[in-house]
Amino acid sequence: MRVQDFGEIIVPPTTTNIEVQAGRCTDCGVPFCQTGCPLQNNIPDWLGLSAEDELREAWRMASATSTMPEICGRICPQDRLCEGACTLHQSGWEAVTIGSVEAFIGDTAFDNGWVEPIRPAHERGESVGIVGAGPAGMAAADRLREQGYQVTVYDRHDRPGGLLTYGIPGFKLEKRVVQRRVDRLIDGGVTFVSNCNVGVDVTLETLRERHDAVLLAMGVYQARALSVPGGGPGDTIRALDYLTHQNRRDLSDPEGEGWYHAKGRRVVVVGGGDTAMDCVRTAIRQGAAEVVCLYRRDRENMPGSAREVLNAEEEGIRFEWLGAPKALLSKGGAVTAVRAARMALSEPVFGRRREIVPVPGGDFDLAADMVIEALGFEPEAFADHHPDLALTDWNTVAVAPRSAATSLPGVFAAGDAVRGASLVVWAVRDGQEAAAEIDRYLKARILEQAA
Ligand code: FAD
Ligand code: SF4
Repeated sequence: MRVQDFGEIIVPPTTTNIEVQAGRCTDCGVPFCQTGCPLQNNIPDWLGLSAEDELREAWRMASATSTMPEICGRICPQDRLCEGACTLHQSGWEAVTIGSVEAFIGDTAFDNGWVEPIRPAHERGESVGIVGAGPAGMAAADRLREQGYQVTVYDRHDRPGGLLTYGIPGFKLEKRVVQRRVDRLIDGGVTFVSNCNVGVDVTLETLRERHDAVLLAMGVYQARALSVPGGGPGDTIRALDYLTHQNRRDLSDPEGEGWYHAKGRRVVVVGGGDTAMDCVRTAIRQGAAEVVCLYRRDRENMPGSAREVLNAEEEGIRFEWLGAPKALLSKGGAVTAVRAARMALSEPVFGRRREIVPVPGGDFDLAADMVIEALGFEPEAFADHHPDLALTDWNTVAVAPRSAATSLPGVFAAGDAVRGASLVVWAVRDGQEAAAEIDRYLKARILEQAA
C-alpha cells in the first residue's frame, strides 16, 4: 500500500507509455515547455527521439543541458514549470508528462551504461574548492571537472547530496538515484571532503589560499521558528530534523538517540510549502494516527506544488486552510493541541498579494502530540566569519548582476545561497553557469599572467 511505502511512489513507465506520451508532443511552432524550464532543456527534441525509441540519442540531448536530468525529471514541480507551459495544457488538455519521460530517459541511460564517465580531454593545474555538495555544488563540480580542473567539494554532512540526500524524502527521490550521481563524480576525479564545516573546521580564507577559485553553494538552513505562546523547548520539531531522521533510516543508518517518529501520534504540520508536504506524507507513512496540515492562506495561495497537495490528500492527510497558529496548549509538560485563528483573505488589490486577516471568534483547537514547524528557511550566519563577503538585504550572498561573482575576488556563489530557498532545477542551472564563469575567470587569469 502506498502510505506504507518509503520508496518512490511512481509506477515505472513502460517503453510503450513513454512512446505514447512523447508522441503526444505536438509540433508546436514555439515550444513553450522549453521556456518554462529553467534549464531551457530541448524538450521537444528528446520527446521526439523517445517517441521513435531513439533513447540513447534522447539521453545525449537531455544531458547536454542538464547535469542531472533523471533527478529533475523526478522532483521538479512540473505543473509550475515545463508541463504548466506545455501547449496541450495551455489548450485545456492534459500536458505531456515531460518529467516522467525525462526520468525514464535518464534511468535507461544508467541501466544501459550510456552515462559517459567524466574523462577530461586535458588535465588543468588550477583547482577549485566548492563549499556545499548539494545540487548546485555537484552541477558545478561536474562541469568544472569535465574541463579538467582539480575539484574538491567540502560539506559539513557525512554524505554528499545536500537536500537531495537529507531533505527530499525517498518516496520522491530514492537515495540510490543521488548516490549514482555522486559515484560518477568520484569516479571522474572529484574529491569530496565530508564532515568539514567551512567557517568552523576550515576558514574561507584558507580555501582561497588553497584553491584558484572558490564556489559557495552552501544553501540556506536557518529554519524560521514558530513564535506563539505556550510552546516550550522541545514542544515543536523542525521540519528538516524530522525529514533527516527518516532519510537516515532509508539509508540504513543505525537509529539515533531522540530521532523523531510519528507512529501512533496526532501530528500537526504548520506551513504550506513543499517541505510541509514532505512532512505530512512522511508522517502518514510512519503510521501517524492523524495528520493535519495547518496553513494560514487558502489552497489557491499556498506556495507548495498543487500536485503534492493532491498526493497528500490521496494519502489521507487533512488540510486546515485559512488557519494560523495562535498558541500551543500543553498538559503535564507535553503539548496537547495547537490553537489556531481562523483567517480570511482581504479583497484583491491589483498587483498585491492578498492580506490575511483573523475572523473574530473563529479560534479552533487541533489535537496534537507532535507539532512540526515547516515555515521556510533563511541563510545561516556564514558571512559572520567573512566580513568582506557582501550580502543582500535577505542575507543571501550578493553576486554581480547576471553573474555568480561575489564581492571577494575569485569567490563565486550559486544555488539557494544566492536565491534563498528555491528549487533543485535552479540550483543545477546556477551551478552549471557558475562553472562556466569560473572557467572564463581562470582562463583570463592565465592570459593576464602570461602578458
Ligand atoms: P543544498 O541542497 O542545501 O546543499 C547545500 C550543502 O551545503 C549541504 O549539503 C550542506 O550540508 C552544505 N553546507 C552548508 N553550510 C556549509 C558549511 N558552512 N560548510 C560546509 N558545507 C556546508 N526542490 C525541488 O526542486 N523539488 C522538490 O521536491 C524539493 N523538495 C524539497 C524538500 C525539502 C524538505 C526542502 C528543504 C527543499 C526542497 N526543495 C525541492 C528545494 C531544493 O532541495 C533546494 O532548492 C536545493 O537543494 C538547493 O540546492 P543547493 O545546492 O543550493 O543547496
Ligand atoms: Fe521540466 Fe524540470 Fe525537466 Fe526542465 S528540468 S524539463 S522543468 S522536469
